[in-house]
Amino acid sequence: MSDCIFCQIVSGQIPSSKVYEDEEVLAFLDITQVTKGHTLVIPKKHYRNMLEMDAEAASSLFARVPKIAKQLQEKLGSSGINIINNNEEAAGQTVFHTHVHLLPRFDESDGLKLSFETHEPDFAALAQLAQEIFLGE
Ligand code: 5GP
Ligand code: ZN
Repeated sequence: MSDCIFCQIVSGQIPSSKVYEDEEVLAFLDITQVTKGHTLVIPKKHYRNMLEMDAEAASSLFARVPKIAKQLQEKLGSSGINIINNNEEAAGQTVFHTHVHLLPRFDESDGLKLSFETHEPDFAALAQLAQEIFLGE
């Protein structure tokens, strides 16, 4: 897609700081570096996001993630890593070419603040909700 910045990175029209590349996938440093080594892993083929991908395309992308995550961990000496994928604006997606964020973690002041609002478990509501969602086997 000619107006997609990540397609332009794949084709070399826009420069990027590559950390991994093969025939299907490219990984490069995110310009904002939320934590040191913050990396984006993308398929070379354009998909808007995960909701547009089939099992084969998603497998090809995610199959590379452990290797690149371990590479970051080993080279940067991080103590953990968050792996995040945003789909659509409501979920914080700003670039509409599928990407997986790899965020190496060092300590509580390393730049990333993730918080989950938690609730007391309501088991009846959970069972009802699961029934609504369940597709069957
Ligand atoms: P999203 O919010 O869609 O999950 O993440 C998009 C990410 O792409 C952001 O973290 C942003 O910093 C990064 N980004 C946007 N434009 C560029 C660019 O031109 N080069 C690089 N390396 N990263 C970019
Ligand atoms: Zn694209």
